[in-house]
Amino acid sequence: MSKKIIAGNWKQNGNIKSSIKLAQDIILGIKKNNIKHEVIIFPPSIYLLSIKNINKKEIINIGSQNVSAYNDGALTGEISATMLKDSKIQYCLVGHSERRHILDENNLSLCEKVSRLRENNIKVIYCIGETLKEYKTKRTKYILNKQLQSLFKSLNNSKRSNKAIIAYEPVWAIGTGLIPSAKELSNTFGYIHNTVKRYNESNESIKLLYGGSVSPENAQSLMKTQYVSGLLIGGASLIAKKFIDICSTI
Ligand code: PEP
Repeated sequence: MSKKIIAGNWKQNGNIKSSIKLAQDIILGIKKNNIKHEVIIFPPSIYLLSIKNINKKEIINIGSQNVSAYNDGALTGEISATMLKDSKIQYCLVGHSERRHILDENNLSLCEKVSRLRENNIKVIYCIGETLKEYKTKRTKYILNKQLQSLFKSLNNSKRSNKAIIAYEPVWAIGTGLIPSAKELSNTFGYIHNTVKRYNESNESIKLLYGGSVSPENAQSLMKTQYVSGLLIGGASLIAKKFIDICSTI
């Protein structure tokens, strides 16, 4: 059986001291609780290498929250996929709702990012999800289809075999304490599974994660949803005990 994936997105939080302490506590918690899942943390870029340094035994995987859509060159403030590869960063998030909706990223630039990452053998966690307005007007499937269609245009064009992971995160569930009902989740993941099957031209298996207000209390039931192979966690990944409790309960 393949490993479950537990990913923690730290967003723009913490400082050097607290980030190292959080990573150390997570590593300790994994060892102490004998956790066998694939655990990935996404610290702010400036702390990636310091955290890599305390993870020499590779107990956790480390990912970047963002990457440039372009190759190396005159792009002030950007970090390229080549630089991530050079720093031995294994994963990168693409398409998180905060980047789509606050920082105005669109499907086109997100697909460029996916291409740069795959060219550099960095695994992609691609986030999709509908806003509250789209949810309320019953446009969830329409939005997910559009997001998946553009992702697969990019994946199918690249000859690389580097498994992508898709995280379904309803935007209205992120940081709000709200989660879809079990029935809604089963319906939506069924739809995502079938849509991925329709668009995916390769033999790559694509794992699906759920994200949005995951807590130690709801993690187990969320993981019971068919086709869900893991969780993407925001707020609860900033507290080592909560994050480890989630890892332990599933
Ligand atoms: C996220 O931002 O990816 C996320 C899922 O956040 P939270 O767990 O805080 O809802």
